[in-house]
Parts: sequence; structure tokens; C-alpha cells
Amino acid sequence: MSIVINNGVVITMDSIKSIFEKGMVLIKNDTINYVGEENISLIPRGAKIINAKGGIIMPGMINTHTHIGMSLFRTLADDTADRLKKYLFPLEKKFVTPELVYWASLYSLTEMIEGGTTTFADMYYFEDIVADAAIKAGVRGILGESILNFPAPDTQEPYGGFKYIEKLLKSYRKHPLITPALAPHAPYSLDFENLKKTAALAEEWDIPILSHLSEMPFEIKQIEDEYGMSPVELYFKAGLLSTRMTAAHCIYVDNKDIALLKTSGTGVAHNVAANLKGAKGISPALKMFDMGIPIGIGTDGPMSGNTMDLVNLLGYTAKIHKLDNKDRTVMPPTKVIEMATIGGARALHIEDKTGSLVKGKKADVIIVSTESTAMFPIYDYYSALVYCASPRDVNTVIINGDLIMEDRKIKTFNKKETKAEAEKIVINIKKELGNF
Ligand SMILES: [Zn+2]
Repeated sequence: MSIVINNGVVITMDSIKSIFEKGMVLIKNDTINYVGEENISLIPRGAKIINAKGGIIMPGMINTHTHIGMSLFRTLADDTADRLKKYLFPLEKKFVTPELVYWASLYSLTEMIEGGTTTFADMYYFEDIVADAAIKAGVRGILGESILNFPAPDTQEPYGGFKYIEKLLKSYRKHPLITPALAPHAPYSLDFENLKKTAALAEEWDIPILSHLSEMPFEIKQIEDEYGMSPVELYFKAGLLSTRMTAAHCIYVDNKDIALLKTSGTGVAHNVAANLKGAKGISPALKMFDMGIPIGIGTDGPMSGNTMDLVNLLGYTAKIHKLDNKDRTVMPPTKVIEMATIGGARALHIEDKTGSLVKGKKADVIIVSTESTAMFPIYDYYSALVYCASPRDVNTVIINGDLIMEDRKIKTFNKKETKAEAEKIVINIKKELGNF
């Protein structure tokens, strides 16, 4: 099966950020076969031809940190103090079932596809069910089964995630879209022995690790009191910092911490909107990016970042770092698009597979339409994407060579049925909430 996308501007995000004004992308099976100026002689007979109608053809965006099974709790307790321990953990204990995780995940995947996300990194419970939803939708996922020191919705035992992940490994180890991962929840929710065990198992099973790190003010104090060091130093000591690790947030990191992240090759997921909403602080993500630390953008879960697309985050990411540095030149739109695409791939250590439009990489490609009112005129394509685009401008999504959304229509699953199933669960949550 071949797909050709033409009549658009190709933003490649390759090593020299090549742009082809009258560009063409040729996909053969799951792989990019050609990227360059339009060349009709290369179009194979019988290929499906997609006319980009002057839009922007670019790499699919990469959401480096989320919890997609939480979408049916969206807008609950948004501004409650100490929300995580007082509200979120008890809420999950009461309501999170495999059925909820499946429909909530598929609902989130709807929003992610409609916003041009082609890869996501997830940390949650019943992660094998998240995998079922991702495969149904056709979206690439690095899926981390949560490990915590207390019983979770999918296990009665503290640290039961070590056992639960076997399901994920057994079913999905070789799946072309799914990469099973270990997700130690945070430095404050595992003891040192189990942090070390996580690092050792990830090595033994040859899988990635996803974690929250240096996110909460109480976390910094607790780790200092317990261990006399920072959370980043603790992870380093436990053997968790490496090219297997993607650490979400990294807000309260000092120069010593940043040096440890850099020398270990750890990837960082920057969740600017969720961190602002939680009044947590601004991660020195730009400084880390400029030092060469692999860094991508994340939404965080739908209770933290609320919307699940990256397009809404592009402008935030630029503006907050400009304001933080009191300098409008520090965060040009090229850097933001880099973080949202190839930067995200580097942060998840999959840059050899996706993140840019380069011959030989997997075909994760989107078309952003330039027909909406705000997308005219365009003198700078990166500026238009960062400061003008909305997720509704994403027109077409291809993942691993498969056409997932065409002209805003999702082709892999029934969007209406997904909403109807999600609604049934939400009605039940609303009924039960009175007793909560
Ligand atoms: Zn998170």
C-alpha cells in the first residue's frame, strides 16, 4: 500500500530543518520512502493520493506524558488544594475499572488524533487495556504500568504493578505500535529498594521507564528529609537515570540535578500548561533544551492539563519561557515545533523511528490545514503553527503508514459509539459522587 501526500508545504524537522514549499511525501507500507519537492515520476501506480490543498505536511506530534484513562474525570476538582492525595487517589480507587479505562482511553485518543498526536507516553493502571484502545485507534504508544507503594485500582498488593505488567509484556512486547514500559509513580511513592528493582527489571526486560520527577514541593522536602538529597539525585543513586528513562516535569531542578540528567541521557517531558494550572512552577525546560537534554512536550492527564492535544500547548510553551526570561528572542517557534516533534521522540528515545519526515522512518505524518481564518497570511510556517493554529486545523493523520483520520473523519473506530459508552460511565460517576 502506497500513500502520496502532495500539494502542500513539507516541514520535515530533519537535522537541517528542511522545508519543501511544493513538497511531496511518499509512504510505502509503514515507512517514509521519499520526502522532497513534488516529483510526479516517483508516484507508484495505484497509490492513494492525498491532496494537502496548500496545507502544512509535518511529522505527527508526540505527547511525552499523559494518563489517558483519566478523561472521564475531566473538570472534577480542578482547583482543590492537595488534590493528588485528598481527591485523585481515592477517586481512582473507587471508580477505575478496566471498562472505564478502555472507554476513557479511546475518548482521549479521539481528541489526540483530532489534534495531530501520533505517539503518546502513558502512565496509568490496567495499561494492557490502554494498549487495546491504542491499537483499536491505531496510535503509537509507550505504555507504562504504574508501580506504587499502596494498592492500586488494578492490584490489591503494594507494588503489584510488577506482576500486572506481565500481561502487557506477554501480549504486546512485539506489537508494531506498542512499547510496554515500567512506570514508577514518583520518588515519594516507592521505597528505595523498589526504585532499584524497577531499574534492574527495566534492564532485564529491555524496556523503557516513565516517571514523575521533581514535580511537587512536598516531594522535595520529603526526599530531603528521608534521604538527604534531591529527587533527581535519588533516582541517579537508584540507577533509574539513563537512556531508558523519560522523567516528567523536572520543575525544581538545580544545576547539579540538570548535570545528572544530561550525563545520564535521561529524557524530560515538559508539561507547561499542567504545571501552570497546578501553580507548581516553571520548569527550566528551555535551559535544559539549550544544553542538549532530550526534551519534549506533554499534556499530562486530562485532570491536570485538561485538553489532550499539543497544538494548544505550542503557544504556551513559547510564551511562558519568554516571560520567564524577559526576552522575546529565547524561544523561537522552530524550537517549540522541535520539542513537539523530534524533541519528543528524543525524550522518549525513539528518534530513530519517528519524530521527523526522513526516508526510512516510520510514516507518522499529519496535515495541518491553512484554510481557517487565523491561518492567513503565512510568512513563517513555524510561527503560524505555534501562534495561530488550533487543533481543529489538523485535517489528516497517518500513523505507521495507516490513514487514521482523513478530512477530520476518524477511520479506525466509531467516535459516536465511544462518546455514548463514555457518557454511560459518566452518568454513573455523577450518581455516585454524592457519596464520595
Ligand atoms: Zn502526570
